[in-house]
Amino acid sequence: MNFKQIQINTASPIKSQSKVMIIYTGGTFGMAHDSNGVLVPFDFALILEHLPTLRNLYLELTVISFNNPIDSSNIQPEHWQTIARIIFENYKEHDGFVVLHGTDTMAFTASALSFMLQGLTKPIILTGAQLPISETRSDARENLITSLEIAAAKREGKAMVPEVCIYFGNELLRGNRSRKTESMHFDAFQSENYPPLAKAGVKIEYNESAIYKPSATESLRLLDKIDPSISILKLFPGITESIVRGVLLSDGLKAVVMETYGSGNAPTTKWLMDLLKETILNGIIVLNISQCPGGMVLQGRYETSRTLQEIGVISGGDMTTEAALTKLMVMLGENGSIETKIKMGKSIVGELTQ
Ligand code: ASP
Repeated sequence: MNFKQIQINTASPIKSQSKVMIIYTGGTFGMAHDSNGVLVPFDFALILEHLPTLRNLYLELTVISFNNPIDSSNIQPEHWQTIARIIFENYKEHDGFVVLHGTDTMAFTASALSFMLQGLTKPIILTGAQLPISETRSDARENLITSLEIAAAKREGKAMVPEVCIYFGNELLRGNRSRKTESMHFDAFQSENYPPLAKAGVKIEYNESAIYKPSATESLRLLDKIDPSISILKLFPGITESIVRGVLLSDGLKAVVMETYGSGNAPTTKWLMDLLKETILNGIIVLNISQCPGGMVLQGRYETSRTLQEIGVISGGDMTTEAALTKLMVMLGENGSIETKIKMGKSIVGELTQ
C-alpha cells in the first residue's frame, strides 16, 4: 500500500510537549472543493491552512497520509494491517496516534486495531467528520483538535487513555464497544454496553474508572495475521432453509457471527437446529451476538436459546458485531479454531463484560 510522510511545522517546536502521529486514511473529513466545486480528498500537507489553531497545541506532528485517501466503505483487512504496522513501527518515538478515517467502517477498524495491537500503553484515537473540513459548519476541526489533545494527554508521565478509542461528537468511546448509529447528526457513534471514557466540554473529563490500566510489564504486540473466512447470519422471521444453508455450508467458512433476537434467542425450528449442529460438528465456530444494541446474550434464559447452548453455539455476551467479526478474523489468523473458540467467550481487550 502506498503512503507518504509529511512533517507538519507547528511553529513552536521548542515548546513541543508531545509527539503525535496522525495517520490520514481518507473519509469525509479531508474533502475540499476543487476548482470546479467538486468535493475531492485534500492534500494533508495543507492542513494548517484549514486549521491554523493546530499551532497552539505545541505538539510535534508527523503525518502519514495514504497516497490515495479512501472512502471507508472501501476499507479492507489489508488497510488494517498497514495502519497497525505503521503504529507498531513508530510506537517508541511517539506519545500517541490519531487515525483519521471515514465514519462508515470506523467501528470495524477501531475494533480490529484493538485486537491487532495488544499491550498498549499509549492512545490510538480514531476520528473523522460528518461534514468536510472545508465546510463552515464542519465538525472536523473540533474532532481533530480534541483527538490530538487526548492522544497527547499524560498524567505523571503515563498516557491518560492507553486504548484504541473513537472520539466523536464530544465523547471518547472504547473502540471495540462502538458502533455507528447515526448518518446525519454529529454524534455518529454509540457505545451501549460500556460508558464513555471521556467527555469533552469546557474541559476534557476523563472517566478514569472505565479506562484500561496497563500493567507495568505491558509491551506492545503486533498480531497482524488476519483470516477473513467469516460470515454474518442475521436471523429474521421468515428466513428460509436454503438461505441459511447457503451461508453455513459455504466453501472455506471457518466461523459465523449469528445475529439473534433479544438475549440471544433463535427460532427453534428443527431444520435450523440440525443445520447449526452439522456446522458445529464440521469444526465451524458459531458465535451468538444479539441484534439489540444494548444488553447481552444469555443462552438458556429462554427455551429459544437453550438448544443453542446444548449444541455448542458460543455466547458472544455483550460484544458488538463489529468486535465479534474482527476478533474472529484476528484470532483465526493467529490461532487454530480450538484456541479461537476458547478466546471468543473471554475478554481480551475489554470488548465484552465478564
Ligand atoms: N462514506 C464516508 C466514509 O466512511 C463517510 C464519512 O467519512 O463520514 O468514508
